Amino acid sequence: MLLFVFVYAFPIATAIMLYAFLMGPTEFHKNGLIGKLRVFIMSFPGYIGYALLRLCCGKNGIDYAKRLENYMCYQRNPILQIVYLGLMAVNVGFFFVFVFPLWPNARVTMLHKVLCFFIILSPYLAFMKACFSDAGVITKDTEQRYNETFKNDNIMYFKDRKCPTCGIIKPPRSKHSVVTDKCISKFDHFCGWLNNDVGELNYKWFQLFLITNWISCFYGSFIYILTLWGIVEEKNLLYTVFVTPSGQRIESSPGIVFQYMLSNYIIIIAQCLFLFVVALMIFGFWAYHFFYLTFVNCTTYETFKWSHVQDVYESVKAYVQSSKYKENQPLVLHEYLYGVPEKQAAEVTKSEDGGVKSDHVKRKIKDWEVKQCQELEKLARKQSKLTFIYYHGILNNIMEVIWPLTLRSGPLPKPKETRRKNAARFLD
Ligand SMILES: [Zn+2]
Repeated sequence: MLLFVFVYAFPIATAIMLYAFLMGPTEFHKNGLIGKLRVFIMSFPGYIGYALLRLCCGKNGIDYAKRLENYMCYQRNPILQIVYLGLMAVNVGFFFVFVFPLWPNARVTMLHKVLCFFIILSPYLAFMKACFSDAGVITKDTEQRYNETFKNDNIMYFKDRKCPTCGIIKPPRSKHSVVTDKCISKFDHFCGWLNNDVGELNYKWFQLFLITNWISCFYGSFIYILTLWGIVEEKNLLYTVFVTPSGQRIESSPGIVFQYMLSNYIIIIAQCLFLFVVALMIFGFWAYHFFYLTFVNCTTYETFKWSHVQDVYESVKAYVQSSKYKENQPLVLHEYLYGVPEKQAAEVTKSEDGGVKSDHVKRKIKDWEVKQCQELEKLARKQSKLTFIYYHGILNNIMEVIWPLTLRSGPLPKPKETRRKNAARFLD
């Protein structure tokens, strides 16, 4: 029974959860069972954790946990980096203690005694590179260069938008990273494992980090199986007679051999399973980044943004065909979309800095919101499909990851040099 759970139920449950985690947010599953399962998977540990904490430690415990959560999730911290290095150390340590001394054997050649060093070293190198590489931080010195990289689509990105936090003119496809507090070109996400943003310039290193990790995990599980198989062959276990402690003689069978291996090499078998599950998870995550995001040239952040725009566009199309439709009145459309009565919308006034102010909404309708409404209305009237303008064909999209567009016109100006030059000019 336990064996059944171990061999079948565990991998199947893992696969279902992995599928829900990766595919839950897609258009197809978003509102279905898989989408709900994803929400459940994401929120369940939190609920249970907080409930247990309240039970054990009361209010103080909750406060402490909230502070810890804030530190772990919204501030740069090396916790996951340490966890990663720790996991690597434990696995590499187990390997050198329990598996490496068994090589070479009937199934594992001497070649692997050399190859394994490269396979073990590669995730470390990719990790270092990804942790310490520039994601594409936009500063006063580099904002102009980044602004030349991508076009505005007037759907998600608009001309002359300022970042309210760092004050630079936001280049298209950039986003202010909440964790590192910097604007990042083609921001994908903040990666806790790397304690670094993932953006235009280091997306390839992030992917290399994933690739080297799934390769080494798959290699590990594969070579462990070969090692075990080699032992079975060398000891001729399939054609031998086992003697129990009570002296009973038993003819060998695959089941008996399996039991024998399980009791003598449990650590190797457990680690082999662990590596295989981890390999599947990392591979799935990488496959999402490569076969989906890279192929369509979209970032993780943009998948949410784009999905929102698509929802809005559906409403705009409905509006354009409805009797309420008023041509070329983006403010009326804005009010229609965001649920404020039309009457007040008509009284909207222009504020000093060019933004449009509605008294009813009590917040300025920003220029870009007006532009977005205009653009979506234009498209809806033509009944055209929304096009993601950053798609340049699969091969070009892959090349953009390997050789980022911003770097194609030469290296970026170095902040210090520019400052020194400015200082020199000032002194002249
Ligand atoms: Zn910013």
